[in-house]
Amino acid sequence: MMTKALNLLWLWGLTASGAGLPPAVRSAAERIRQAALSGSGAAGIVQSLCDHVGPRLAGSAGSRAAVAWALEQMRGLGLENVRAEKMREPRWERGVETAEIVAPAMQPLAVTALGGSPATSPEGLEADVVSTENVESLHALLARDPSAVRDRIVFYSEKMTRQSDGSGYGKTVNIRWAGPTEAARAGAAAVLIRTVGTSSNRLPHTGVMKTGPEIPLVPAAALSAPDADLLERLVREGKTIRVRLILTCRTLPDVAGSNVIGELSGSERPREIVLLGAHLDSWDLGTGALDDAAGVGVVLETARILSRLPKRPKRTLRVVLFANEENGGRGAAAYRDAHRPEMSEHVAALEMDLGADRVRAFSWLAGGTSEPALSEVAALLSPLEITAKKPEASGGADIGGLREFGVPLLDLSQDASRYFDFHHSADDTFDKIDPKQLDQAVAAAATVAYCIADMPERPAPIPEEKRKAQE
Ligand SMILES: [Zn+2]
Repeated sequence: MMTKALNLLWLWGLTASGAGLPPAVRSAAERIRQAALSGSGAAGIVQSLCDHVGPRLAGSAGSRAAVAWALEQMRGLGLENVRAEKMREPRWERGVETAEIVAPAMQPLAVTALGGSPATSPEGLEADVVSTENVESLHALLARDPSAVRDRIVFYSEKMTRQSDGSGYGKTVNIRWAGPTEAARAGAAAVLIRTVGTSSNRLPHTGVMKTGPEIPLVPAAALSAPDADLLERLVREGKTIRVRLILTCRTLPDVAGSNVIGELSGSERPREIVLLGAHLDSWDLGTGALDDAAGVGVVLETARILSRLPKRPKRTLRVVLFANEENGGRGAAAYRDAHRPEMSEHVAALEMDLGADRVRAFSWLAGGTSEPALSEVAALLSPLEITAKKPEASGGADIGGLREFGVPLLDLSQDASRYFDFHHSADDTFDKIDPKQLDQAVAAAATVAYCIADMPERPAPIPEEKRKAQE
């Protein structure tokens, strides 16, 4: 009797101080998790976006069609305050892209232009190749011989490694982001990079390179892995390699675009917002099934599940489908600017943008007093074989910028083992979606979103000293 009373007192203490999740929230979360796992509508949403809209690069007709699609989907799901929030987005068109080795022996290379690349002249450019591993080794080369890359095609050979947490991408992506401009500064004629991905086919992966008013640019393209291997073998043999590259890509004036937003208003604290994000745009080569129709499917399906609950969660769930994540991040910037006055009302943000496979880890970045409650949310995910992971969450490209305002960030890290086989390539198509794994991701996102929206105390803001993003 005494123990029971003490237990009750202890439970009451947790609940009253906001330290834990009340039993009613826990049991509702368990039902939500179970229902999503036994079959969600997420794959159907992904299919609709891929098949009925297709590629949707910022500035393209596909981007505008995606906005119309998203508005219709949100209204169809019964979300409230559905709107397109206007912003300006860049417009870059791919055009023709071909390359060939002209010496020592003529042969075609499978290439794709990097986003933001300028064109070559219409007849193309032809130059000798100089090979280097990455930006650091380029600088080492230039330190020995400042004219080493002048008028040459710089080939960055660094290989991305396959990792379940996708960390190989972060280690290699600098050859794509900074590689072209660093070579341009040293007088290079053009840049080829080994494709930043883990595929072994001849479908190279595109992605954005650094551009801007003060940034020196040269035409830059990714080489498929087998073609990069070929160049490396020829380099090892000490052969003089000459390549011709034709790119007709171009940057046009910015055009109108939109972030698409819909909400489920909270039943008790409607001003407090739980942000659930994904990005609506994609690269142009595939149909962006994994990147990021899958994320769109997960967040829209999560909203649908929460909208069908007998009682609405206390706080507002806001679904944000960001524009232009891929080649500019203007959607994220526009959201921050437009919603600055209500930043303190954002109680947490979660973004889904690492493919369509199962979630393997949950992490967060919030004030220390939220540890007990968030640990309880993590425990609710363990039947999905999701572990609570340290270090802390970083939030993803579209919501990472909310960190400086102290908005607590949540990460559901998916298994990225096969993601970078397809990411940003012509092979990012709907057939790569595994509905069972996607349902597990929905179960995780819906469990987390519901708990945060309905827990007694909102998560504490990120402490001041942690608001600066790590480099
Ligand atoms: Zn993405």
